[in-house]
Amino acid sequence: MQELGFNQEGSEASTNGGESPGDSAEGPPFATPPAGSPAAGQTLWAQIQQALQRGLSKPTYETWIRPARCRGFDGTTLQLTTSNPFSCNWLRKNYQDHISALAESLTGHPVELLIQADPGQSGPGVAAAAPDGRPGGESAPSEAAATGRGLGQTAPHRHGTTSADPLARQSSGLNCRYLFNRFVVGPNSRMAHAAALAVAESPGREFNPLYLCGGVGLGKTHLMQAIGHYRLEIAPAAKVFYLSTEQFTNDLITAIRKDGMQSFRARHRAADLILVDDIQFIEGKEYTQEEFFHTFNCLHEAGKQIVLTSDRPPSQISRLQERLISRFSMGLIADIQAPDLETRMAILHKKAEQEQLMLTRDVIQYIAGRFTSNIRELEGALTRAVAFCSITGLPMTVETVAPMIDPSGEQVDVNPELVLEKVSEVFEVEIALMKSSSRRRAVSQSRQVGMYLMRQCTNLSLPKIGQSFGGKDHTTVIYAVENVEKRLASDPVLGRQVQRVRDLLQMDRRRKR
Ligand code: ADP
Ligand code: MG
Repeated sequence: MQELGFNQEGSEASTNGGESPGDSAEGPPFATPPAGSPAAGQTLWAQIQQALQRGLSKPTYETWIRPARCRGFDGTTLQLTTSNPFSCNWLRKNYQDHISALAESLTGHPVELLIQADPGQSGPGVAAAAPDGRPGGESAPSEAAATGRGLGQTAPHRHGTTSADPLARQSSGLNCRYLFNRFVVGPNSRMAHAAALAVAESPGREFNPLYLCGGVGLGKTHLMQAIGHYRLEIAPAAKVFYLSTEQFTNDLITAIRKDGMQSFRARHRAADLILVDDIQFIEGKEYTQEEFFHTFNCLHEAGKQIVLTSDRPPSQISRLQERLISRFSMGLIADIQAPDLETRMAILHKKAEQEQLMLTRDVIQYIAGRFTSNIRELEGALTRAVAFCSITGLPMTVETVAPMIDPSGEQVDVNPELVLEKVSEVFEVEIALMKSSSRRRAVSQSRQVGMYLMRQCTNLSLPKIGQSFGGKDHTTVIYAVENVEKRLASDPVLGRQVQRVRDLLQMDRRRKR
């Protein structure tokens, strides 16, 4: 596992794991601190971790064992906490006995094990599927989000290469780039990633189907295919099939036309692990739904793992048969949210590292600040910038890449002066003050909203927005945009003010047409 270098202070997941209690505790059998002292629990857990680490694959250890914390040990009961209920269940189901046995052998007497989720650390974006199919996960900041710990880690992978058998990979339809070790885990995807890993390790068990859900370009296909690669690495003989929903439909049409339904069914039902991408495209296709229902049942009953992705939860797919909604919701629905700025920076950094590009932090921050909700676009921007600089021979600086990243930098949709004017009107702060360096609360709030709206309503580049506010730096603009985005989620008064400015801008545009 690698550290990607941003905001990593205090990260618990360094390359060699030096900060983990599991790694810091060397050798002696459990003896030193007096039982019942806080240190006793830490030492015992550290030694258990160490023992587990030796016997488990790296992804398993990093995902389930390392993040668990020791809450206490009174000599007879060892209390562990996990950051979310999902990990808690996983630990209980899969490692309870193993951990207890190790505790007993280290202490020389039976130890009761209590594993609990720490509600204060609940993670975002994952939920055991609610009966109505909605993801029950909330977006409370996770432990990682709150502390920055583990942010930007690349997902663990045993060898970090690719599936063991190239032939198996070829026939599976997997893209060799979509590996766990190329997936940057942030608070937005932490639980979806953990669920994906769980399914790769133990397919066909409780998370069946695994339904990955999230907006366009957020990594659903990547994560889904990583499951396939990793499964093939663990079990090279496994039959892993990746296919898009469209492909399923097309295959079905061909099969009907050529009277090949039997082989169509045999092919899909032979899978040990089937990955069906973009299942939302099944909506309204009655015959495909009918056939998919039977394929699903057949595989599910045989204990084979099904993984689906979609841009929305099953219940929100219109014209989807009720019985499919209920099938899709019976396992685990894990959602992937838009990544925050630091995660986006870590993704760019990772990509630069893979392509051996030398990028300054400034450039990375600039690009990451420009694309907030789609990683595919983020990567595309980086590619454009790199191509531009290599063709022109210009150095990669914010100034040189900005026109590439913001191609229509000069054609503004809304006049930036108008944004200033309307913000000034609604927030009752003079334009001159917004352009000044005053840090008064009201001034800095209106300035930030102005930057945010200029970013949204004009095509100005970040440096140009900075210039419109009296020559502020582009990083100030990035910060302002992020801050307003965050506050809008919880501050309805600010939301109404921003909406008021938008309405005024809209009215003005209509008047001019
Ligand atoms: P989706 O299927 O959700 O539309 P993809 O899985 O196709 O999105 O991801 C779009 C692009 O972004 C891919 O090139 C993928 O590798 C990359 N990507 C998405 N999420 C991450 C991530 N967390 N870390 C690294 N790359 C990512
Ligand atoms: Mg996709």
